[in-house]
Amino acid sequence: MADVTPTPAADVDAGAAAARAGAPWVAQLGARLLGPIQWVPAAARARVGAGAALAAALLFPAVVRNGGDIDAMANALAFAILALGLNIVVGFAGLLDLGYAAFFAIGAYTYGIVASGQVHPLWSPLWEPLRWLGLVGRFHIAGAPDTVQMHFSFWLMLPGAALVAAFFGILFGAPTLRLKGDYLAIVTLGFGEIVPIVVRNTPTLTNGAMGLNGVISPQIFGYRFGVNALPFYYLGVVMIALLIFISYRLKDSRIGRAWMAIREDEIAAGAMGVNRTRLKLLAFAVGAAFAGATGTYYVAKLQTATPEMFMFPVSVMILVMIVLGGTGNPAGVVVGALILQLLQSWFLQDVTQWTHALGRLVGSPWLQRVELVQSIELIFGIILVVMMLFRREGLIPATRTTAALSLAEQAAQPSRGGIGVTLSGIRKVELPVGTPLLETRGLTKRFGGITAVRDVDLVVQPHTIVGLIGPNGSGKTTFFNLVTGLDVPDGGRVFFMGRDITGRPAHEIVERGIARTFQTLRLFNNMTVLENVLVGMHARTRASAVGAVVRPPSVRAEEAAAREWALEVLRIFGNRLLPRVNHLASSLSYANRRRLEIARAVASRPQLLLLDEPTAGMNPAETMELADQIRSLKEMGLTVLLIEHKLGVVNDISDRVAVLDYGEKIAEGRAEEVQRNDDVIRAYLGRTSAARV
Ligand code: ADP
Ligand code: MG
Repeated sequence: MADVTPTPAADVDAGAAAARAGAPWVAQLGARLLGPIQWVPAAARARVGAGAALAAALLFPAVVRNGGDIDAMANALAFAILALGLNIVVGFAGLLDLGYAAFFAIGAYTYGIVASGQVHPLWSPLWEPLRWLGLVGRFHIAGAPDTVQMHFSFWLMLPGAALVAAFFGILFGAPTLRLKGDYLAIVTLGFGEIVPIVVRNTPTLTNGAMGLNGVISPQIFGYRFGVNALPFYYLGVVMIALLIFISYRLKDSRIGRAWMAIREDEIAAGAMGVNRTRLKLLAFAVGAAFAGATGTYYVAKLQTATPEMFMFPVSVMILVMIVLGGTGNPAGVVVGALILQLLQSWFLQDVTQWTHALGRLVGSPWLQRVELVQSIELIFGIILVVMMLFRREGLIPATRTTAALSLAEQAAQPSRGGIGVTLSGIRKVELPVGTPLLETRGLTKRFGGITAVRDVDLVVQPHTIVGLIGPNGSGKTTFFNLVTGLDVPDGGRVFFMGRDITGRPAHEIVERGIARTFQTLRLFNNMTVLENVLVGMHARTRASAVGAVVRPPSVRAEEAAAREWALEVLRIFGNRLLPRVNHLASSLSYANRRRLEIARAVASRPQLLLLDEPTAGMNPAETMELADQIRSLKEMGLTVLLIEHKLGVVNDISDRVAVLDYGEKIAEGRAEEVQRNDDVIRAYLGRTSAARV
């Protein structure tokens, strides 16, 4: 299943290239203007940029001094936070969520309900601890039983509502995680519709369509924000700064790389050790938490909440903000959000006035009636179409371009004789005598009418190279899929180091020490060479999402060690990959992509390496080079199971060879024995040739 579907990567690449080629003069002008800036190191540039943006944000109210504009800006900041949150779900993890406003609503009503007079249950002593904390009051009217007056603190509910929304993120995420692409989008669309409807139909909690009233505003050191936009503005700036920081920290971490791997190729991510279910839920939860906090902020600012504030167009608007700004780039999506929000609250009104004036001038009644603010969805649509046509990666793209290699760097130094370095992370496995490293018993897989793998028994002893050969369609790749957990066998068992691993999920099998490459390349195309290899390290690293943000010394040390190990692994291939560590995988030559797949697999420190036609598409010199390198890996202690069509390579490096035909193992033994076997000759060359031999 994993290997037969062709990836549409080629079309996407071509499209992106065409998009970039759309306006060459813009690119040239940009390059000329930005040319000198490129000399400043990226980290310093980012720091200066962030400092300048923060300074501008802090000075903005002093410069503008117009209450209305500050208010518009404070609202825009709320949407920028929403864009940051949705960016984690859509931009990082690649999960298309069309109902994101649902989490915004959940956060908003969570705070709204506990900070307004909407619900007032009868007083009972159980409320006493909350009263002691100052979160509720006891309301007394003569002649009636006492009731509870809720006034939960805004500062408590900011993280509190984020947690509640995160909980719902996991709740909504869990049933939808098996879905991909369009299906996920449709289900999330459904959730986005359901939440406002539930809100409208539970008037006791939410006051229904009328909306909550009298939500209390935040108070700090005795100062109550009230309807003054200025403190909200500064609070928004602080929140944005914090959440941008969190976004970048996550992005450039074990967690962020795993998300991006899922976005790029879910199956490959699983096969590299990423627990897809957990990481997708995490993305949903983190994204929802951002929205929950924003809901609290927004409702506290408006002091009301109605279901209309959280309908489908809001979800779409946030999505358009992300596409406009640059999917996957936190700074970009904030810029996109601010542009769209200010477009609505500042410019469209002015442009409408101008259009009316123009209409009066030319005597066109139609122009005098145009209301651009009402056509905002049309404008969003136009923005989307224009972005897709001319700049798909957004105003500020997430992937950076890297400088071209110098000629010396490009010149490969083909080397025979294997790997000149030793890999510190690869150790020989110690197994009890007589235990094979891998053993399959009666392994069987059926796809409808055909039996792709039939009753295959195979034993792989440690520190050997076993060649798996057979005509096309004989079930070799399916056999790999069964061993690595990408397909579940219909019969038989798989044992690794004496333990039964049949039907275990792919990421767990990587943890146990089996790594693989794919016949049809499955690299993470929009990630760099280094990032691809680091994803291979996922199963061997531990950093959690919190660790990734806080970066305690243990996480820093782990990350540094992972990077060092990644470079060590890339060194296997001499100067083929090393000069290209910061290049996107999609920019590599075909042979280099094959090498990168091997490096990514080796990075997971496997005991058993499964290579599916690693030399396909390589020229004879490259093939021999790779054969030597595979032999070196064995000498370092790895065990290799190798699917290969080039029999020269198989003869050269395999200790044993097994032959599959129509899913059945028809021969096994040393290479030269197997090639004399009549069944094998018949399978490869047909019956008449066998008769002649
Ligand atoms: P090989 O790698 O030896 O060329 P495969 O394992 O890819 O062969 O395929 C073995 C057989 O199983 C082929 O007939 C192929 O069409 C079939 N097959 C493989 N994967 C699937 C799938 N997901 N659905 C249906 N048939 C499949
Ligand atoms: Mg195959």
